[in-house]
Amino acid sequence: TPATITDRRRVLVAKPRGYCAGVDRAVEAVERALAQYGAPIYVRKQIVHNTFVVKTLEERGAIFVDETEEVPEGAIVVFSAHGVSPAVHQEAAQRSLKTIDATCPLVTKVHNEAKRFAAQDYDILLIGHEGHEEVEGTAGEAPDHVRLVDGLEGVETVEVRDPSKVVWLSQTTLSVDETTETVTRLKNRFPDLIDPPSDDICYATSNRQTAVKEIAAEAQLVIVVGSSNSSNSKRLVEVALDYGADASYLVDDATFVDPAWLDGVTTVGVTSGASVPEILVEGVLAKLAAHGFGDVEEVESVTEKMRFALPHELRKDLRA
Ligand code: SF4
Repeated sequence: TPATITDRRRVLVAKPRGYCAGVDRAVEAVERALAQYGAPIYVRKQIVHNTFVVKTLEERGAIFVDETEEVPEGAIVVFSAHGVSPAVHQEAAQRSLKTIDATCPLVTKVHNEAKRFAAQDYDILLIGHEGHEEVEGTAGEAPDHVRLVDGLEGVETVEVRDPSKVVWLSQTTLSVDETTETVTRLKNRFPDLIDPPSDDICYATSNRQTAVKEIAAEAQLVIVVGSSNSSNSKRLVEVALDYGADASYLVDDATFVDPAWLDGVTTVGVTSGASVPEILVEGVLAKLAAHGFGDVEEVESVTEKMRFALPHELRKDLRA
């Protein structure tokens, strides 16, 4: 048969995509806690920013709350992967809650940097998104020392006590490129600004951005699977648009994929945020296949091997 336009339709799937080690650990912590202690298990905030994950855990007996005070005295509460401020740990202790801290170790690393620089009386320019749970947790480690810089706009307005004693830290799920630009501009304003001891943007965030850049260069449309409150997922849409895609959309699942997006498109890129289970990507691929995009190729740009042990409070009980 002669080649038709349909034969050239293809899907490029980015790798790595989806679950990072911190999300995997946090979700498993809730699952194991449910199995070990029985329902209900309370979880402060969404364990990870994904609607499907939260709904699935709810069906199995997890109860999601916004604040610790909503948890009955003495109950078990899991803290989400995004981390909590010391004040939240104190509240939990006052209510005699049994806590399982599923804060990602890479977020804890940033908390420790904040504590250390605050102890040395540095002003900490924390690059991050206002109101994001991770930023609230990190800032809570040193409320008197942290100044939030929310994107490039924040650079000109941020005030410090002593411009010769400033350090920058960041949220783990930012755009690598935009953060580099933000730091350059901060250094123009504060020439003595010092860098964190190691990257705060985590391996998973930066690897998913590297991977989407590769497929965006060849795709007219990039579909990012992820929830609308997921910072790292939203960044993938921006990066896809910056690196060559004509259009890019964030979808929670296949039902949000509009077949009209495929008009005139020959190559579709697909990726997913760090909080997204692979089953949701499979759903999107099935829908694309049903619309003539069944030729799927995975493009691997970085190999990931990171794994984190379960929270120690839980490991202790699992061993017992
Ligand atoms: Fe940890 Fe990065 Fe995953 Fe956040 S995105 S949970 S910091 S590995």
